[in-house]
Amino acid sequence: MISRIDLRGSTQDPRDLLPRAELDVEAALERVRPICDDVRHRGTAALIEYAERFDGVRLTEVRVPRRALTSALDELDPKVRAALEESVRRARLVHRDQRRTDTTTTVVPGGTVTERWVPVTRVGLYVPGGQAVYPSSVVMNVVPAQEAGVASMAVASPPQRAFGGLPHPTILAACALLGVDEVYAVGGAQAVAMFAYGTAECPPVNLVTGPGNIYVAAAKRLLKGRIGIDSEAGPTEIAILADHTADPRYVAADLISQAEHDTLAAAVLVTDSPALADAVEAELKEQVAVARHSGRITEALAGRQSGIVLVDDVEHGLTVVDAYAAEHLEVMTADAAGVAARVRNAGAIFVGPHAPVSLGDYAAGSNHVLPTGGCACHSSGLSVQSFLRGIHVVDYTREALAEVAHHVVTLAEAEDLPAHGAAVTARTGSGEVSGR
Ligand code: NAD
Repeated sequence: MISRIDLRGSTQDPRDLLPRAELDVEAALERVRPICDDVRHRGTAALIEYAERFDGVRLTEVRVPRRALTSALDELDPKVRAALEESVRRARLVHRDQRRTDTTTTVVPGGTVTERWVPVTRVGLYVPGGQAVYPSSVVMNVVPAQEAGVASMAVASPPQRAFGGLPHPTILAACALLGVDEVYAVGGAQAVAMFAYGTAECPPVNLVTGPGNIYVAAAKRLLKGRIGIDSEAGPTEIAILADHTADPRYVAADLISQAEHDTLAAAVLVTDSPALADAVEAELKEQVAVARHSGRITEALAGRQSGIVLVDDVEHGLTVVDAYAAEHLEVMTADAAGVAARVRNAGAIFVGPHAPVSLGDYAAGSNHVLPTGGCACHSSGLSVQSFLRGIHVVDYTREALAEVAHHVVTLAEAEDLPAHGAAVTARTGSGEVSGR
């Protein structure tokens, strides 16, 4: 069901031995390129065609009418509404604390640099809805955007055949709950292209955020530059660093909980305990057999992206999980907090036996839109910061400029860019600039 990779005694770079889906994103790029070009040139007509091809629905329009949003909220199961409200409340607590304040540094008397934090003007938020639907991703996208002060935001989520071509009603209800009224029934790469290029109905955005499958991740990689992106938040990954103290039932349940997302999801256990590895494998067999999505889970666990990795000790395990840079990392070892504090690369870290990833998926207060495919070694999960830009505002008096003019002139000459120096001496009247 799940392969074993024995790294005990290995001195090779673990990155070469831990296969992942990276190559698949490369392959998906070629698949999504024509889709994005088509949306660019044919707009809504192309979106309607792709909805028929990929989602099996015939649409006449892609913008979700406002009344569909309000009636989805009116008809929402009160228990689901209460759970969503609690998820929003906790997410707001955490994301509100992430807000930035402008800083002004007096570099010299009369010379200041202010960093002014300005929200992105318009954003496109992707909410997945293919193999599973994710109202929780509405919360995880919208709350940080709102806390950042974004003025214009649109949500896109795949049309569902079972719901007359609208996105899933719980997604619509979550949008209504959060006051988002611009929603499109568009999924996959074509949604990212709609946001990037704009259509007659949907004005282009500056930034696209949100998780999605491999096609969504590939389209974000392809269109990055034209739009900003948060990170490549593609098919889910869980890595668990565990020793003999971990409960195999919890470890197996958590691996399964992420494998449930997608046949391409990665579930990786890193352990120095062969006994734990055996016990987890036995648990996996039992728990998968009775899981609702056992087919999808079995495929994900058996995929080349998943495995049980044996290491020499927890120290070696730390090297391996740092090299892997998982989207989600659980630490279930003795002194889990101490071990977790030493991790350098992970999208989010879940400490000890009572912080499963699924808590973070819904209601920890943390964000669940996190970098995948090893991107956690250079990118962060979605946060208020993702929706802000820091603009430096430079304000110098003539005296403050004059004080540093000779250094500017020297550096300009060192770079053979004398006009740079001349722009300063034109104001201060001092210094000789060659080539003037
Ligand atoms: P999705 O909305 O991401 O993708 C569905 C869309 O994919 C469809 O509407 C269709 O347009 C497109 N598509 C399907 N097959 C295609 C094909 N052959 N060619 C081109 N386009 C095609 O929904 P999903 O598939 O359920 O995937 C959700 C993903 O989001 C999962 O992989 C899950 O692990 C991931 N996820 C990641 C995070 C994160 O933060 N990294 C968080 C939540 C979910």
